[in-house]
Amino acid sequence: ELILAIESSCDDTACAVMEGRKVLSNVVANQSVHAEYGGVVPELASRAHQAHIVPVVTKALKEAKVSKQDLEAIAFTSGPGLMGSLLVGTSFAKSLSMALGIPLIDVHHMRAHVLAHLIDGDDMRNPEFPFLCLTVSGGHTQIVRVDSPLELTVLGETIDDAAGEAFDKTAKLLGLPYPGGPEVDRRAQMGNPDFLAFSKPQIEGYNFSFSGLKTSVLYTLQAKQKEDPEFVQNHMDDICASVQKTIIEILLKKLVKVSRDTGISHIAIAGGVSANVGLRKALETTATEENWSLYLPPFEFTTDNAAMIGIAGYYLWKDGHSADLGISAKARVNL
Ligand code: ATP
Ligand code: FE
Repeated sequence: ELILAIESSCDDTACAVMEGRKVLSNVVANQSVHAEYGGVVPELASRAHQAHIVPVVTKALKEAKVSKQDLEAIAFTSGPGLMGSLLVGTSFAKSLSMALGIPLIDVHHMRAHVLAHLIDGDDMRNPEFPFLCLTVSGGHTQIVRVDSPLELTVLGETIDDAAGEAFDKTAKLLGLPYPGGPEVDRRAQMGNPDFLAFSKPQIEGYNFSFSGLKTSVLYTLQAKQKEDPEFVQNHMDDICASVQKTIIEILLKKLVKVSRDTGISHIAIAGGVSANVGLRKALETTATEENWSLYLPPFEFTTDNAAMIGIAGYYLWKDGHSADLGISAKARVNL
């Protein structure tokens, strides 16, 4: 059951070789070209994918000690993501599947973020079904109910910005370097989370909203800067801690609500924001209070990687699913 998986939805070019649920290799090439622009530049991203894809695939095969001829299926991210980026992985996966005469399996990127929890590995604890997954990434914020590897239901999601965007946009406002999430996290650990209070959205049900937070931070800081032009500079760590606390509270409030309403107490997290130290601590505290079994996967499986595409592809393949060669990438597609 040897699968080669390719991920190219945003700014990371990734390739993994899987043997069933086990990861034989998991290679990621990051793109540094975007930092000076303060965000991912789509045109530059697709060019970098084009340059990276062959070396990354070659390295993944080499590390796995697998030759192309032994592969049995090719999995790839068909969407959602940046069109120019998706096209590079899609075209490469199609060509390889055609050349080797093996099945092609299209994988939804957000399904893969969740199913990364089913990878078989030494430092992996696989959740029991049903479980809830809070996916917090650069482009998405979702609470997904997982009844089996093939049955995923989005119960709640953001109606505007993603949690990662909330981190990145407030960081930009504060003049911190891109990507802002890790920097806010680092500073928040040295700051006072109760230094400032920001307004929180009043959204019914299980959905999230983060666009109001950015505005609330902007207005609060503008008012403070009027009194003291050095306010932001002098209180950077405290401001970061306060913003982070608000984002975490918004996330946890809904997660607790869904868990109580559904009676599901196996809770997993996925996506880049799940690396956040404050979020992990808050989840652990809530897990004790709410009697949750918590699943915090290793970092390499939470940000964009191809092993998650491989595991999602594996379950689809076993279920008899495969794509025909006419398939095209989709920038926007529901889970
Ligand atoms: P999507 O999967 O929605 O297409 P993505 O895969 O590009 O988005 P990820 O790579 O999973 O997103 O996550 C990137 C986001 O995670 C960025 O917004 C980044 O700022 C945020 N992030 C990374 N580390 C941290 C951290 N320690 N604290 C807060 N945010 C973080
Ligand atoms: Fe992602």
